[in-house]
Amino acid sequence: MSIGSPFPESLRRGQDHAILDVSAPGFPPATHPAEPDLFSRQQAMPGHDQTRLEAAHIVVVGCGGLGSWMAVALARMGVRRLTLINPDVFDRSNAPRQYMLPNDLGAPKAHALARHVAGHMLNAGTVTGIAGGVPDALDLLRERPSGLLVGVDNNQARLAVAQYARDRGVPVAVAMLSADGRRAQALLQQRGGPCLSCLLPNLDPDQAAPCAAASMPSCLLIGAHAVSMLTACIMGGPNTPTWRETSLDGSTERVGAPAVRPDCPCQGDQP
Ligand SMILES: [Zn+2]
Repeated sequence: MSIGSPFPESLRRGQDHAILDVSAPGFPPATHPAEPDLFSRQQAMPGHDQTRLEAAHIVVVGCGGLGSWMAVALARMGVRRLTLINPDVFDRSNAPRQYMLPNDLGAPKAHALARHVAGHMLNAGTVTGIAGGVPDALDLLRERPSGLLVGVDNNQARLAVAQYARDRGVPVAVAMLSADGRRAQALLQQRGGPCLSCLLPNLDPDQAAPCAAASMPSCLLIGAHAVSMLTACIMGGPNTPTWRETSLDGSTERVGAPAVRPDCPCQGDQP
């Protein structure tokens, strides 16, 4: 255990990337048979499959304003295996929208978030934090994940994760905010469907927006859509949109299921 974390943890290393595994005990069992199941409310939702969700291993790439809350949502929904990836450390400017506590200043985001998220896991499980960047950090995964969520500020990482997911035939949901932080876009790349480049053919891998504006409402808005898309895909429920754009002021609300783009390099190589 470490100072500030009540859960057992172990640190291992892979190349230059430090990997922290945190064991989450989950919530205590019901004390009376008449108590409703922890997940009874979400299980009542159409298409929800708690068993599939609990069997999933989901990787969250980016532990900032988007990844922080998406990881908490998955832990609360009952996912037992989470891996969080981020190469950076927390600084003061992160606090207004990221899951950062006062003692986290200067700590690797992936490790601090793994400790925090472990406390949110309703089921017993493991949260792994890899303090490294993609694609290298993805190579350290011990198993093929069930799906990935991406909340990063640069296209290079988005494209790297999309390629990783495509090569392995696993779904990935990408959450993105506009530069002014008021408009959000979420898209789902899944087996047999359009890839990230089909959907956004002009993504420039050299473009980064580390100083883009954002606030908690922006982060929650897009995190909800991305988590919903990915978990619906993993649970195999009714068809859901694979692309949506939305805004805080309601002026943009578009939704759809785009097709594979005929001239995209991904054509024909879907696993
Ligand atoms: Zn494509």
